[in-house]
Amino acid sequence: MTSRTLCDLATSLLDMALPAACAGCSIEGVALCPTCCGALNVRLGLPAGVPIGLPSALPMPLAQLEWCAPFSGAVRKALHGFKYAGERRLAGPLAAAVAARWKAAGAGGELLVPVPVHAERARRRGYDQAVLLTAEASRRLQLPWLGALERTRNTAPQFDLGRRARRMNVAGAFALRDPSQAARIGGRWVVLVDDVMTTGSTLVACAEALYGAGAVAVSAVTVARER
Ligand SMILES: [Zn+2]
Repeated sequence: MTSRTLCDLATSLLDMALPAACAGCSIEGVALCPTCCGALNVRLGLPAGVPIGLPSALPMPLAQLEWCAPFSGAVRKALHGFKYAGERRLAGPLAAAVAARWKAAGAGGELLVPVPVHAERARRRGYDQAVLLTAEASRRLQLPWLGALERTRNTAPQFDLGRRARRMNVAGAFALRDPSQAARIGGRWVVLVDDVMTTGSTLVACAEALYGAGAVAVSAVTVARER
């Protein structure tokens, strides 16, 4: 199945229910048009792993890191719509891209875990975008998912911080939502799911909480990567 078919399937039912404008380029009639779906799947055929030339190698202690597209253009706009404009219907096509990239990279895992926003922010927004994304990706990858983590403090937005400040900002900011769930994480290979990755500090902070709960490996997949 091509990436375009995946996107079409993910958006067609929603489009029938409610005509929309493309979140990437504003063309009318679809939640995400084929051109913007193509932008979302631009890395689908690339080899697994972090290419040489990016500012950081694999952020430790992540076992793997994959992403679908650079955080720019139509992808950036679509993610903005998904996070800030209430465009929940984008969860389908965005998760389809995540699942396709994860499969194409030959990556595995046993349990998907979303990178949570702070409960207060999710309440204000009405949803947690990483939870929607993870639930949709779970269905497509046929892997279970668990909302295992919570943000224990409301961290400052990462985008206006430097690399070192980002790490300090999120260090220790995640914990198990329910300590009794450690039994579902112990001995497992966990895959973190998020919308955008920048320096990886947030993914690292989440991975540390999961390793603390006994995970044997923590990988990560995001829709986009900045820089
Ligand atoms: Zn478009």
